[in-house]
Amino acid sequence: HLSKRLQTVSDHVEPGSRLADIGSDHAYLPIHLAKNDIISYGVVGEVAKGPLSNAVSEIKKEGLLSVLQPRLADGLDAIQPADKIDAITIAGMGGNLISHILENGYDKLTGQEKLILQPNVGEGVVRTWLMTHRYQIKAEQILSEDDHIYEIITAVKAPTKLAYTDKELKFGPFLMKEKSPIFVAKWQSEIKLLERVLNNMKKASHEDVPKMAAIRAEVQMIKEVIA
Ligand code: SAM
Repeated sequence: HLSKRLQTVSDHVEPGSRLADIGSDHAYLPIHLAKNDIISYGVVGEVAKGPLSNAVSEIKKEGLLSVLQPRLADGLDAIQPADKIDAITIAGMGGNLISHILENGYDKLTGQEKLILQPNVGEGVVRTWLMTHRYQIKAEQILSEDDHIYEIITAVKAPTKLAYTDKELKFGPFLMKEKSPIFVAKWQSEIKLLERVLNNMKKASHEDVPKMAAIRAEVQMIKEVIA
């Protein structure tokens, strides 16, 4: 049984895809997709030996070694041209790490792949990487599970240069339009956090006036977006 988070990631993998799941750990996501015949081929990439051996034993247990190829590799090094990968999932890590993996492996990308990314934090960093590398965001989702709010971002290579606004990069172009209750809850708790920071700064002997003004402006911007 897949977590709601990984289930939502898997919903974005189109039937018939040739998948690379990077940083797969236990390989639950590609196993789910293979068992349900959504993919007939998958590369299961892991940089660490422990998680890779978890992946190998889970894949063996399910009898899926002919479909899923476990590989010990850093990021997109797991992908070979012969794999003809057309979907890449990178889930359950910070946005910085996801962006580094894409940046370091950029020469492995043909531009034909759909990217399905689920940063735990730092979603804005991921969107900025996508924009800089001419990827167009096709869909976004937000969900809450076990007291954490997760975002999923899918993107494909665009024919021309793209420009997202700073707001779109921070909040997500689709998510900020949709303004779902979970989205609003996420940014309300960010406001609470920033207001706590402001209160602590007020108590300090030397107030950092420019910093406080910047935080107030950010709070104001968030309020406008979720209004
Ligand atoms: N993707 C799974 C999920 O969403 O449930 C597992 C997430 S787990 C928290 C992150 C995994 O990414 C770890 O197993 C870690 O070893 C792996 N990882 C971190 N950096 C990596 C890299 N550069 N290349 C491949 N795997 C990496």
